[in-house]
Amino acid sequence: MREPEVVINHHGASRLLAGHLWVYRSDIRSASAQGGDVVCVRDERGRLLGRAFYSDRSEICLRLVTREDVPVDRTLLRARIARAAELRRSIVGDAPAYRLVYGESDQLPSLIVDRYGDYLVLQTLSQATERRKQELVEILLELFAPRGIVERNDPKVRLLEGLDQRVALLWGTVPEEVVLREGPLEMAYDLFHGQKTGGFLDQRENRRVAAGYARGQALDCFAGTGGFTLAIASRCSAVEAVDLSPEALKMLTRNAERNRVENVSVREANAFDLLRQYDDSGRRFDCIILDPPAFAKNKQNIPAAYRGYKEINLRSLKILRPGGILITCSCSHHISESMFWQILHEASRDAGRHLIILEKRTQSSDHPILVSMPETYYLKCFICSAL
Ligand code: SAH
Repeated sequence: MREPEVVINHHGASRLLAGHLWVYRSDIRSASAQGGDVVCVRDERGRLLGRAFYSDRSEICLRLVTREDVPVDRTLLRARIARAAELRRSIVGDAPAYRLVYGESDQLPSLIVDRYGDYLVLQTLSQATERRKQELVEILLELFAPRGIVERNDPKVRLLEGLDQRVALLWGTVPEEVVLREGPLEMAYDLFHGQKTGGFLDQRENRRVAAGYARGQALDCFAGTGGFTLAIASRCSAVEAVDLSPEALKMLTRNAERNRVENVSVREANAFDLLRQYDDSGRRFDCIILDPPAFAKNKQNIPAAYRGYKEINLRSLKILRPGGILITCSCSHHISESMFWQILHEASRDAGRHLIILEKRTQSSDHPILVSMPETYYLKCFICSAL
């Protein structure tokens, strides 16, 4: 039987040679393959460029797995996962919850594995990783012997692959709440219903660093289950945690109780409205944290997202006391670092504040950035002081 093969044009080939791992449908010349296959990728002269995951639905048609002339089989997948885990050993310290496999950056395109102590959460985000799900589960069992594995295959991107959105237990048992240490705190994660895979692991390092800057009266505007709120609470006189989601705030309150934190109050509100209200009524804070969801989900959204980020940053600067700390984030890949910088520049100009950046941070190092693929860099976290 002939190996499935895809021929790509010069444009696609140059992208791969430059280190990008994706080839778009518009750069495909011919394909003799089924969705989910591992295919040989060739340029128009017949030169082998490597082997890739093939999708017959998504605009991202190829995801390169290897440049070598080697089979993409169980041995290769196992070795890649083992290598990703080895890397984490040297970077996550004793954190029990972290990203074990971060897709393209770990040369395992469209595969995410998060570790929550004894439990693993898996995302197979393309036809090819979906088709290999059972094999991947077996590899994870061999390598890590977890007590349970959950698939959090509810991200919308699965629809672009023609895959359904689903959440299910794949192996073992997983409790409704997994309680794990984060620094000095104990935090609960709901691996089935919590946001993302149960927690915002990408902000772990930023939460720790934020604690070093926070003080006085603090406002955490998109508080979720309280990652930042609880990390800074012991440094502050009071923290107000704001979120739209009553479920998130319930969990936040339980997390506060679990850690005997008593200076936190929660408020179910739209941060946009609340910031405006506080601006109008003269409420002031010493520290404000802005960790909103991605406002720009695609390129078309960029202008609206830009306005959204500017609005919350501007309002925050208006209600921050002199010398106050603003910890402001964007997790939209489409809002670049320079754009985010520009947003802060405009916000500081309009607020008439002298805004200095103390630290420019990004996603935690267990979500490493592949230099040749800017898509893997999404989280910006600037720690600023407004004089
Ligand atoms: N800072 C959290 C993660 C926050 S994720 C942590 O470190 O764990 C973003 C949160 O913003 C979600 O909990 C979501 O419910 C909330 N959210 C989204 N839009 C909002 C809005 N307009 N006002 C307030 N909260 C909002």
